[in-house]
Amino acid sequence: MFCLLCRLHDTCTKRNKDYTWNTKPCVRMITQAIQLHFNSDMHHSAIEKEHLKQISPFQKEHESRKQCENEVLNKVFMSIYWLAKEEISNTKLLSLLNLMERAGLQNLKHFTYTGEGTQQEMFLILGQVVKDRVTERVNKSKFFGCLVDEVTDVSVLQQFVTFVKYVHEGKSRTEFLHTEHV
Ligand SMILES: [Zn+2]
Repeated sequence: MFCLLCRLHDTCTKRNKDYTWNTKPCVRMITQAIQLHFNSDMHHSAIEKEHLKQISPFQKEHESRKQCENEVLNKVFMSIYWLAKEEISNTKLLSLLNLMERAGLQNLKHFTYTGEGTQQEMFLILGQVVKDRVTERVNKSKFFGCLVDEVTDVSVLQQFVTFVKYVHEGKSRTEFLHTEHV
């Protein structure tokens, strides 16, 4: 006879490191032997380990969060990019994520970086990545030109906006490069 739980948690008797019921079978085929094992330190410690495994919601939460960390961030950055491309206000991010979670993307509940400062940082990081890609292409282009103008944004702040025109894969492209408060 073996004990499933003791095998699972690899326990042995404390006193003489006896692995009967775990890796060694118990060959005393009597009810008393089972009763003795049931009351033993070895079996109790297996029960304790099993409980610890099951009742730690923090550990469970932590593990499932870690598992999908990158996937969640990928979806969040994808949403940020979509908002920007569709010219939708960046304050709608949490609302959009909430909708996606309700629509079935349940692991989005693990996205906890919801502070305003953090959200702003994520938008800026994404902007920097796009800008880096543009400047990298401009650097490779033999010719480029800048188009600059000042405009007033919705909050009546004057913005100095720069576009860049360059050659990429044989075609000319004009792309947004930078904006600065005047
Ligand atoms: Zn046992």
